[in-house]
Amino acid sequence: MKSMSINEKRLHERIDALGQIGKIGDTGVCRLALSHEDREGVRLVQAWMAEAGMETIIDPFGNLIGVLEGLDKEAPVLMLGSHIDSQPYGGRYDGVIGVLGAIEAVQTMAEAGIKPSSNIEVVAFCDEEGCRFNKGLFGVRGMTGKLEQGELERTDKNGVTRREALLGFGCDPAAFAGYAFEEGRIGTFLELHIEQGPILEALGEPVGIVSGISGPVWWTVEMTGFAGHAGSVPMPMRQDALVGCAKIIVGLNELASSDPEAPTVGTVGSLSVFPDSRNIIPEKVSFTVDFRDIDVKRRDSMENRLIALMESACAEHGLTYTIREDTRSDPRYCAPRLRTLLREQAALIGLTPPELMSGPFHDALIMSYVCDYGMIFVRCKDGISHNPKEFSSEKDIALGVELLYRTALRLTE
Ligand SMILES: [Zn+2]
Repeated sequence: MKSMSINEKRLHERIDALGQIGKIGDTGVCRLALSHEDREGVRLVQAWMAEAGMETIIDPFGNLIGVLEGLDKEAPVLMLGSHIDSQPYGGRYDGVIGVLGAIEAVQTMAEAGIKPSSNIEVVAFCDEEGCRFNKGLFGVRGMTGKLEQGELERTDKNGVTRREALLGFGCDPAAFAGYAFEEGRIGTFLELHIEQGPILEALGEPVGIVSGISGPVWWTVEMTGFAGHAGSVPMPMRQDALVGCAKIIVGLNELASSDPEAPTVGTVGSLSVFPDSRNIIPEKVSFTVDFRDIDVKRRDSMENRLIALMESACAEHGLTYTIREDTRSDPRYCAPRLRTLLREQAALIGLTPPELMSGPFHDALIMSYVCDYGMIFVRCKDGISHNPKEFSSEKDIALGVELLYRTALRLTE
């Protein structure tokens, strides 16, 4: 294994220092988007960007951007980054390692006297998590011209609008109007992130290469039968909606598990029963379905099989059903050229990273609509994330950052 180029000590000191802002308990953080703590975090990260030799700005959407000038300022930009906002009961690595790792990569380059061929921009995107205003990926959608109507009027639980929060953060939403995303300005986006799942740990690998971000389909299903006295209606005469629903829950679980090689996942996470009484046969059940896959064909086929299952469960139990589709997004694949490059660079530092799908969203999901993107995952303990217990080892993070650095170097030779 070749020795590391990045400054590991500096990287870990910065991760520790940022983890002190909004700290909860011994290891957790609460740095809600556009909060006082978020602002403090952004200021600190901005200072590190300057130390790394970057010019910095905070755009009207609250994104912190550092620019390292390259030889050709007109060439498509290499963008690196992630987010530093957190869940209310979050960990200190989610998003953070992608931003601080990117700064470390740029600083390593600058200190070695390497001038990149194009500009490199490091971004700490505003409000990736979406927990405060119930809609995430705000900064990256703002930057790429994908905001929706009414976003500034969304309120947090204290009634503060996003507009007010942005103003308090020092950003003026009036400036959105003058902002247009320039198609083709960004050539490549790379994001380093903790895996937030247990696969790398199970494989004994510190680092993985993301094949793509899965496309979730979200449904709300309602099954309707007929209420009756739990003590008197004979079993063959019942129209029990909860029994029908139970078959769907088990069926979805079986469908999603049917190919052990595939990353398909399916979940019923929320259920409400009407009239919800001990001695009444359930008349109506409403439940959510979430299924995700990187392969749209496989996802479509699972969808059809699930509908067939609903038909048969309803026929068997005398029920009717409706499906409301809440979300349908397509998988977004990482660029093959970047996956190859990442694999080659990983081999040079003695790694053989497996490829894996990302179930969760990331800022990279939105970037995928405007440029090629690649993602590196770092192993995290027990797959725990969005929890103060979230943990990745210093060694694993350093390997991920070293891979980010070497890949960024190749992309800007
Ligand atoms: Zn994240």
